[in-house]
Formats: sequence, structure tokens, C-alpha cells
Amino acid sequence: MAVREVLKMGHPTLRVKADPIPLEEIQSREFRTLIQDMFETMEKEEGIGIAAPQIGISKQVAIVGVPKDNPRYPDTPESEEEEDDDFDILVVINPKVTVIDETPSGFWEGCLSVPGLRGYVERPSKIKVEFTDLEGEAQVMEVSGFGATVFQHELDHLDGVLYVDRVTDITKLSYMEEYLEFHDDLDDDPDSDLDSDEEEEN
Ligand code: ZN
Repeated sequence: MAVREVLKMGHPTLRVKADPIPLEEIQSREFRTLIQDMFETMEKEEGIGIAAPQIGISKQVAIVGVPKDNPRYPDTPESEEEEDDDFDILVVINPKVTVIDETPSGFWEGCLSVPGLRGYVERPSKIKVEFTDLEGEAQVMEVSGFGATVFQHELDHLDGVLYVDRVTDITKLSYMEEYLEFHDDLDDDPDSDLDSDEEEEN
């Protein structure tokens, strides 16, 4: 187990579609080590999400922090590895996303693979995610608002897509310092930085 290097924008591994993970691989020791490494790397970087391609592993698994105020379904899985009181931390394997409400919901996003920047991205406000959990069980959950954005950001990584691809108004792509000075007040959600922490990254 180890903290891994986070690949940065420009690295080709961030731009390819990740491979699905066979069910039998989920119980393997190698896969457990990968998940541990992702957790450790995410925690060191103080992120609320990380996808395997970001540490150079082109496989369809991501760790996603979902805000607890998100409306949830009763069978939503809980993770024992949860460390942040504000978030439920989920391990999401082989996900499939279906848009439930296309009404755009905009947040300023950041990314461990795009350090020092923030960009305003609008995404569908409500989605359904079907995925496999760490026990190999099929799960379905619906997420909306910021949680839907976190999911879509992380799952985009599994398709080789970065949030900067989805910034439609390029005047809303900003360095951190300028974001805090000129743009921060446009968005009152203090948690709207995705897989990196804005103060730490400053
Ligand atoms: Zn990211």
C-alpha cells in the first residue's frame, strides 16, 4: 500500500477509456491493494474523489464522495472506510450512468490531475448510477445536485474525459488565486471543489 503519483493532464492514460473489471478480480489481493492505494492517495491530496486512471491504472473503478445531504435510496451502500463526516465514500466499479434530469446544474470543479485550476461546469442535475460494489454486488443509486456532479466528474475519468473538456464558457476557467478573488462569490457551496481541496492546493 502506498500513496501513488497522480497523473496530470497531458498524460495519455488520462485520455483513454478504462477497461471493465471482471467480477472475479474484485476479490483479488491486487485489486484490494489498488483500492487502498487510491484511498491513501486521495486522502493525502485531501480529495473527495479519485479514479484509477489518475494513478495510472486504466480500470473502471473510482472512489466517490457523495454529500450526505443528497437524497438517497434506502439500499444505498455505506462504506466502512468513511472518514469525512460530510460525505459518504463509495467505491464504484464498472459504473453505468443514466441521466434522469437533464436540467443543468453548475459548479466550480477542480481536479487532482489539473492542479491549480478551477472551472465552471454544468452537468445534468440528476442521474442514476448502476455499479458493482467492493463485495461484487450490483448497486443502483440516484444522486442529484453536487453529488451528481461529483459522480459525473469521477466517472468521466473512466471514459478519458476531464472536466476542462466540459467548461463551455472558457472565461470561467481560472487559476485558484483568481478564482478565490473574482469567482468564488458566484457559488455559495464551499464544497464545490471536487477531487482536490482548494486551500491545500493554493
Ligand atoms: Zn478529476
